[in-house]
Amino acid sequence: MTEVLSPGTIEEAVAMLAEYGEAMPLSGGATLIAMRNAALVEPSHLVSLDRISDLRGIDRTADGKIRIGAMTRHCETAACAELTGSLYVLRRAAGMIANRVVRNMGTMGGSVANADPAADYLPALACCDAMLEIAGADGRRSLSIHDYIDDWYETALAEGEIITAITLPAPVEAPSTYRKIARVSGDYATASCAMALDPDGQGMRVAIGACGPGPLRDRAGEDALRGKLGEPAAVAEFAGKLVAIADPVDDVRGSAEYRLRLIPRLVSSVLSELTTQKETA
Ligand SMILES: Cc1cc2nc3c(=O)[nH]c(=O)nc-3n(C[C@H](O)[C@H](O)[C@H](O)COP(=O)(O)OP(=O)(O)OC[C@H]3O[C@@H](n4cnc5c(N)ncnc54)[C@H](O)[C@@H]3O)c2cc1C
Repeated sequence: MTEVLSPGTIEEAVAMLAEYGEAMPLSGGATLIAMRNAALVEPSHLVSLDRISDLRGIDRTADGKIRIGAMTRHCETAACAELTGSLYVLRRAAGMIANRVVRNMGTMGGSVANADPAADYLPALACCDAMLEIAGADGRRSLSIHDYIDDWYETALAEGEIITAITLPAPVEAPSTYRKIARVSGDYATASCAMALDPDGQGMRVAIGACGPGPLRDRAGEDALRGKLGEPAAVAEFAGKLVAIADPVDDVRGSAEYRLRLIPRLVSSVLSELTTQKETA
């Protein structure tokens, strides 16, 4: 029998996780309850984060950044009017997760902690250069999303640590978006692409999802492409570099070979969508 604990503060939650070695944090439960019912995990205690008010809400910090509490539901992120311009990509990704039921249950902290390589938030957060706020029994730390994924379903979160918030740079006026290729509407991605143009329209940030253990970003390639977004050969060369660093698997959502073929198509089609938006703005 798994006991559910309901701490009222972050400190109480991490103390409970430290006290009961087999305890797990519970956020929306969309994934964890299904895993527990299938006996894929057998926690002694579930430490529910539901009562902790510090984990809620989407706020602007004094320096203009956006701070999203870990318990923010996908439906709240999808509806957040603060996520404009360069941050619209995250709002769009949230709105493409599964279906309304899952979006009403699932949280950003739970999704990022779960680290499914096909999850929609990870490439969007990588495209935004997000920072994760983390708390554990030894204190608090922050970590770049780029240093977070260690391997397939393995992250830099230590035992007993929880994600408390996700911080994004202040939004700037520049188009961004997220696109996923999936077998059917609402399914996890076979491959996905998060992209944001620079404000001057000369460069872009791109992260590819579901083609390796974590989102793929080639920041040196992005720098080299600055000023050449209108040159198809340069864009194709850049996409080829993303293909070269990809490490996809064959699974029910598509073969590794198919995923590799999707990357250049996603890059060129999403880029063309964003540059058209920039021209007509
Ligand atoms: C039918 C279905 C379809 C789905 N389709 C998609 C999809 O298309 N795209 C997509 O991106 N996702 C999809 N998901 C996943 C969904 O987004 C979940 O919400 C998400 O994976 C888990 O979020 P949660 O808040 O429910 O976390 P939970 O289920 O509560 O927890 C998930 C895991 O994270 C740990 N955890 C939870 N919160 C924290 C925290 N703050 N800090 C540290 N560890 C924590 C838990 O211990 C557990 O191991 C789908 C899920 C379902 C059930």
